[in-house]
Amino acid sequence: MIRKISLLVAIVCLFLGLLVPVSVQAGNGPAILDSSVEVDFPLKITFYLSTESNVNITDIRLHYTVDRISHAQVTSEVYIEFMPSTTVDVDWSWDMRKTGGLPPGSNVDYWWTVEDAEGAGIETRLATIQVDDARYSWQSINEGMVTLYWYEGDESFAQELMSVAQQVLVRLTEDTGAKLERPVRVYIYADAQDLLGAMIFPQEWTGGVAFTRFGTIAIGIPLGKLDWGKRAMAHELTHLVVHQMVFNPYNDLPTWLDEGLAVYSEGPPQPVFVSSLNKAIDENSLISVRSLSSPFSAYAEESLLAYAQSYSLVKFLISNYGQSNMLELLNTLRKGSGYDEALQKVYGFDMDGLDSLWSSYILK
Ligand SMILES: [Zn+2]
Repeated sequence: MIRKISLLVAIVCLFLGLLVPVSVQAGNGPAILDSSVEVDFPLKITFYLSTESNVNITDIRLHYTVDRISHAQVTSEVYIEFMPSTTVDVDWSWDMRKTGGLPPGSNVDYWWTVEDAEGAGIETRLATIQVDDARYSWQSINEGMVTLYWYEGDESFAQELMSVAQQVLVRLTEDTGAKLERPVRVYIYADAQDLLGAMIFPQEWTGGVAFTRFGTIAIGIPLGKLDWGKRAMAHELTHLVVHQMVFNPYNDLPTWLDEGLAVYSEGPPQPVFVSSLNKAIDENSLISVRSLSSPFSAYAEESLLAYAQSYSLVKFLISNYGQSNMLELLNTLRKGSGYDEALQKVYGFDMDGLDSLWSSYILK
């Protein structure tokens, strides 16, 4: 459960020139005696530091950054509380329950700065922690930009899921022009229960998750549920590709496009989607494209219809207007365009226009 990652040891590292003294004064200045990290996945990461100087150490700070897609590089700085002394041992725990968790495989870069009463300081070299889910013995296979990790089932199980991932990427590019821009890590848990154990405050229904900013997917796939697993793989991987493509600081994707593309990637629609859409057509209870642009309803029946309609909208756009327009839509959204503006620019109609064109297409 707890994995200890050994780190820099001052004497050795100073010898190797790995520690960069910031402003060592005439005296000895602070030195790092020991530094280590303990990952207790998914709950916390504890950082330890042992340091000494010829005068009292007065200031210790931990700096860390999380490796994920972001609009601006964010470095967190933690002021460590301690009693000034010539020898100080400190630790600080990053409690994921307060900040939200990190997916398995994430990387955290960190370094320490220490200062003493004479103003002499030292800054440790940047070190990287890989946050692993050490509850299981993972195996991995790699193909192209995808690395798949799993721990239950033989290699053919993993290979089958890998080939689905590869097919999905090819098909997605053919139909929408969307491509992976960064490598992806796929974690296959043995079931939903194991996956829930990897998350902080998981939703009960979580069967698969795309951590889009981390390039990571986690899915719980029992050996006997491979068909479901293949759909979930196609779905989550598509979310990841599409989010990588349109990531921008100004605007999100409309939910119908995000979920519609993900369901479209799964292959032929599931019968429940078809019947949900037909029922809504019969009862004249279709949801407007404008409402489908916001997060979907939490009510099961309405949410089912929202997915079914999103799939149908995406299929309508791809089969009637082709790959290049879908690619242009994604590229326009990437620039932070509003939903109406993006549709108008690419297709010549806004969300209401899409609504009426799509309605006449499905009611035919
Ligand atoms: Zn989804």
